[in-house]
Amino acid sequence: MKEIRLDKYLTEMGEGTRSQIKEMARKGRITVDGIPEKKSERKIIPGQNVIAVDGRTISYAEVEYYMLCKPQGVVSATEDKRYQTVIDLISDRKRGDLFPVGRLDIDTEGLLLITNDGDLAHQLLSPKKHVDKVYYAKIDGEIPADAKKRMEEGVELEDGTLTMPASLEILEYGNPSTILLTIREGKFHQVKRMFEALGCSVVYLKRLSMGSLKLDESLQPGDYRPLTIEEIDLLK
Ligand code: URA
Repeated sequence: MKEIRLDKYLTEMGEGTRSQIKEMARKGRITVDGIPEKKSERKIIPGQNVIAVDGRTISYAEVEYYMLCKPQGVVSATEDKRYQTVIDLISDRKRGDLFPVGRLDIDTEGLLLITNDGDLAHQLLSPKKHVDKVYYAKIDGEIPADAKKRMEEGVELEDGTLTMPASLEILEYGNPSTILLTIREGKFHQVKRMFEALGCSVVYLKRLSMGSLKLDESLQPGDYRPLTIEEIDLLK
């Protein structure tokens, strides 16, 4: 791996801003291969030099990919004044620049990809790419008999916009009914608004997949794991 500046390395790993790192180095808190380094602009080789802050080794990762089963009550953001964020849940993260690929509402659960790979995020979120997203939902109210057809034709939302065709599978009629809905875009509150257009309401929503990436069923809300190499390759 090529040389990079010590302050860049530590900033990328979320240890602070460049000026904070400079101050930490000045105070002798940073070591390179066990020797205190006062110059935060010095070059090091990630993976070769051992970098530590206050004796804690800071290992390097250029990109990270995590699958999170988002719980309710947590926001899909990198920072928030009131709520815990999905990034706060990734306690093993190395990088300081992780972000969620797309958003789930605060009361929605399920699959969220967390990464710092901006190109991949762009590919998955670009409206032109039409990546399928599958949601499981519990629906209050009577699902109209022609719901499947209407979803397939695209639904007119309350603001007049027409959604792209979506596919609806009704798992069980009841109160609530349970369904699977596959959509190819990511409009704000899209699934909830599509059912509102049909005169019903979503009372529980969980994302099960995004493109080739499927939520690992062993993950409980709040759990996460790194993506496997195969999962990363399939997404790209
Ligand atoms: N559609 C919604 O209504 N909410 C979500 O969180 C995701 C899709």
